[in-house]
Amino acid sequence: MTQATERRVLLAAPRGFCAGVDRAVLTVEKALATQGSPVYVRKEIVHNKYVVDDLSRRGAVFVDELDEVPEGATVVFSAHGVSPAVRTEADERKLTAVDATCPLVTKVHQEVTRYAADGYQILLVGHRGHEEVEGTMGEAPDRVHVIDTAEDAAAVEVDDPHKVVWLSQTTLSVDETMERVEQLQDRFEQLESPPSSDICYATQNRQVAVKQLAPECDLVLVVGSRNSSNSVRLVEVAIQAGATSSHLIDTVADIDPAWLDDIDTIGLTSGASVPEILVSQVIEYLAERGWPQPEEIVTAREHQVFALPRSLTRKTAVEV
Ligand code: SF4
Repeated sequence: MTQATERRVLLAAPRGFCAGVDRAVLTVEKALATQGSPVYVRKEIVHNKYVVDDLSRRGAVFVDELDEVPEGATVVFSAHGVSPAVRTEADERKLTAVDATCPLVTKVHQEVTRYAADGYQILLVGHRGHEEVEGTMGEAPDRVHVIDTAEDAAAVEVDDPHKVVWLSQTTLSVDETMERVEQLQDRFEQLESPPSSDICYATQNRQVAVKQLAPECDLVLVVGSRNSSNSVRLVEVAIQAGATSSHLIDTVADIDPAWLDDIDTIGLTSGASVPEILVSQVIEYLAERGWPQPEEIVTAREHQVFALPRSLTRKTAVEV
């Protein structure tokens, strides 16, 4: 049986909220504070159940599509972005749109628009059906091919192999994306790369941090929701980096006590849409069962902040 004195909890840093999520959540809070309830939000503002439930209790109304929003009301677009067709529909329904799209998602939209205007075919590495991918693709639906799997990379056809570029979803596994890109490069010799990585700083930093601690861990717990791409990727990265096991948990209630039997070292991290309170609850749970306070493994310091949407900050710039 493992002795309590041998046990360790390694806490990844950075983890949790990124600047884009912070901004999106503050956007809804500010809209509620200034305009009162209800504030409609198209799709989950960020992919985290706790955050969505909390905002719902405070008066946010989450809808799947704009036809569920009364004409003339205010609607917030989520951090994952929307296609131009959604913006047009909002105008047609006379909605006041507040755009909480993460600026790093907007950057990829702008790349799509620019390359499409220059006559390129765009190979968008990402998960088919994910909201971000649908929004990005909507910038130039005739020009974008989604590359979700190795089979997609093997099968995709383009009109002109001399004018083809790859771009990506912001929240992918860096290593898996490069595997897919190498596969595409084998097929299209003149494949161009994005001017800078589309996988955002927060996704990359959280993966580097979990890679650092995973080789020492019998178990890595990743706090995050199942529909959160970057959280799911952290579980995969932990296993690939050498953790014996890894589980995605929405909250502490999802921990199966049997996971903790006969192990020495637990790694703990959280996805970019996860509030720190959910990590603290896991630490408390472990402490109640004799695990020590965590050692933080710091692989980067983050200072990125994004100002709130201008429509919400008429007089003062708000830092998030
Ligand atoms: Fe923006 Fe990256 Fe956060 Fe997504 S994970 S909201 S792209 S900073």
